[in-house]
Amino acid sequence: MPATVEEELVSGAPALAPEPEPHFLVVTYPAQGHINPARHLARRLLRATGARVTVSTAVSALRKMFPGAASETEPESHRDASGVWYVPYSDGYDDGFDKAVDDATHYMDQIKLVGSATLGDVLDRLRGAGRPVTLVVYTLLLSWVADVARAHAVPAALYWIQPATVLAAYLHFFRATDGVDAAIAAAGGDPWATVRFPGLPPLRVRDLPSFMVSTSENDPYAFVIDLFRQLIELLDGEDSPSVLANTFDAVEPEAVASLRDHGVDVVPVGPVLSFLDDDAAAGGAKNGGNDLFSQDGKDYLDWLDAQAPGSVVYISFGSLSVMSERQIEEVARGMSESGRPFLWVLREDNRSSEGAAPLGGERGMVVGWCDQVRVLSHPAMGCFVTHCGWNSTLESMACGVPVVCVPQWTDQGTNAWLVERVGTGVRAAVSDKDGVLEADELRRCLDFATSEMVRAKAAVWREKARAAASEGGSSERNLKAFVAKQIAGGNN
Ligand code: UDP
Repeated sequence: MPATVEEELVSGAPALAPEPEPHFLVVTYPAQGHINPARHLARRLLRATGARVTVSTAVSALRKMFPGAASETEPESHRDASGVWYVPYSDGYDDGFDKAVDDATHYMDQIKLVGSATLGDVLDRLRGAGRPVTLVVYTLLLSWVADVARAHAVPAALYWIQPATVLAAYLHFFRATDGVDAAIAAAGGDPWATVRFPGLPPLRVRDLPSFMVSTSENDPYAFVIDLFRQLIELLDGEDSPSVLANTFDAVEPEAVASLRDHGVDVVPVGPVLSFLDDDAAAGGAKNGGNDLFSQDGKDYLDWLDAQAPGSVVYISFGSLSVMSERQIEEVARGMSESGRPFLWVLREDNRSSEGAAPLGGERGMVVGWCDQVRVLSHPAMGCFVTHCGWNSTLESMACGVPVVCVPQWTDQGTNAWLVERVGTGVRAAVSDKDGVLEADELRRCLDFATSEMVRAKAAVWREKARAAASEGGSSERNLKAFVAKQIAGGNN
């Protein structure tokens, strides 16, 4: 750390302009699955360095996270219980994006255009306030953030919040390493066709990021592949890019090695989950609050307390994926027939008719949103039926909860492949017709996932995940080394 002006005066050395104190700005796309790992990383950085750490996300998200905050735009207006500061940029949709009426492509244009200008203002204001940002860290879909940082002479680093296997797959796909792009095209969307990426175990087409194999011309998210292409081009434009990744050495060593062999210094710092740090001190795991969704008022924790240890099936498809009417019916039937108690997250925006007969019978509870980490950490938890978002996957792993994987899109197929590979769960077969997991298959998967064999694997990976993130663990060491390099001015 640089000497202060006072120290220099006392020592008689010439009073040089003081180096700015480290200040990390973590910029995230305004979705729950991006905000969570960004906030957790911010807390880790704060814990590792004691430096000032600020999270920046879109105005609409910050309004939901901190309702009633005094000022929306002032840099110093929001701070969470752990000491992380918050400041918004504008994505041009300050009243929020409404998927029923708004166009996703237009949104991505706006977030880049308006976001670039307003994030630039944030950097200027923080500098003006005497707290210049010394490193910008940005999550997915936001390559433009690196341009804004560069224009303000601030170094920037990508924080990859999906598995390293997915980053390696994109890298090789866009670089066309060993003709892998042609091999994927030749597979013609056959989910069972095998694709070989340099250094990775063989993957089937169904295990690949969905955007890489999407063939439908009507896909409203067809543009997303270009965002990943831009990201890889950005990395390819850097001399020796360092990428923070929310994964850990033990879970996907081949992907980490493949990336390094091909010039991307991936730095596994995961699982980045604040509850692992807070556990003991805070008297139990929780996600820290300030979600984009309001907690359901139902007393689901009391209900969990009343269930037998290891008995409850938790069902959630995350913050974005929507269950179709038929999917809801099949889950309800499967759970009713299974006779197992269950807690089911069915968001308000995923319910067409409220108040019909209780879904899945009397043994279950349906909530709009819960504190997932608390639920997964509860002794009553037996199994998680999940869409396999990467956060949910890491959380279940760190809690030792076996999973039934029902991947929907983006990285979730790869995440399910990783789960099956380490043995902590099973990927459910779904209907060819509409991708629905049917009741009989759900029951079969529950029987498998709650078997002694899978439970034992889940218990082993709980310890491996926690060991990586613990004080002195591989991820903790990696983060400290990365930060030390940044503070010494080693990036860019
Ligand atoms: N989550 C939660 N309560 C819920 C459902 C989800 O707190 O009722 C959290 C979950 O713990 C995870 C995040 O929302 O951290 C979802 O991220 P993930 O990557 O699993 O899926 P996405 O929502 O991005 O598809």
